[in-house]
Amino acid sequence: MYGLSGASGRHFCLWCLVTQEDSQQPRKQRFSQPRSLQGLSKDHNEFMTTGHGKLSNAKHYNNVINEVIFNIPITQVCVPSLHLDLGIYLRFYNMFENTVDDLDKKINANGQLVKVLDETLQKINVHRQAYHGRSFVGNHVHKCLQDGNIDALTTSVIDKVESISPEFSSEATIICDKFNSLFKLFAKCHVGYSRSDYMDTEEIDELETNIDKLMEFYRHEFPNAKVSPKMHILEDHTVPWIRTWGFWVWFPWRTGRGACTC
Ligand SMILES: [Zn+2]
Repeated sequence: MYGLSGASGRHFCLWCLVTQEDSQQPRKQRFSQPRSLQGLSKDHNEFMTTGHGKLSNAKHYNNVINEVIFNIPITQVCVPSLHLDLGIYLRFYNMFENTVDDLDKKINANGQLVKVLDETLQKINVHRQAYHGRSFVGNHVHKCLQDGNIDALTTSVIDKVESISPEFSSEATIICDKFNSLFKLFAKCHVGYSRSDYMDTEEIDELETNIDKLMEFYRHEFPNAKVSPKMHILEDHTVPWIRTWGFWVWFPWRTGRGACTC
């Protein structure tokens, strides 16, 4: 709708001109310039003329490859909270599952550890979408981010390792504790922005602190994992949007105040 080449582009973000590389650094340690409708038009013109409209040149024109369709200022475009939830949770869960799978192979558990995770999801009534890359839907994420369910998932792996290879219990506990913290930090952000009522300054400040704590933990504990475009949007654009409008648009089509990029 705003003509960008997509989430894998060098300048992937609709709200600012940050690069994938720079977005790996904490927000407070970098500068990123906001985009504007005028900037998008200018970049698109230059892409078509100087860049000859070639996709391989897109990165030199801030990845604007099509004309803007909607004349809605970017400051009014709602950050897509449901997509942030789904994308970020799936990313964290896959990281957890892959780490558990590595441990499974190391102790020759024949898939029992990943199986116990699946069984725990079933117990809390989360049935992943088998035909959509085993993705989650919004209601699943909400369930999976309840503290008790986070504990159930991580404890199930620790208990299984304890029963089949107790000598690896402490390793399993270290892994599970780390992911337990990651999920709980993300849960605090999820609770902070999954609402559509007015938020006062104190609540917005608390959300900002929780997002910063999550990002700090992620960068510190998972130094080889990348900050995804959705995590960048969470880190950089969620709180400014709420500060501008005073509330979060959980259902943008209901309020009619903003457009959604999804
Ligand atoms: Zn941005």
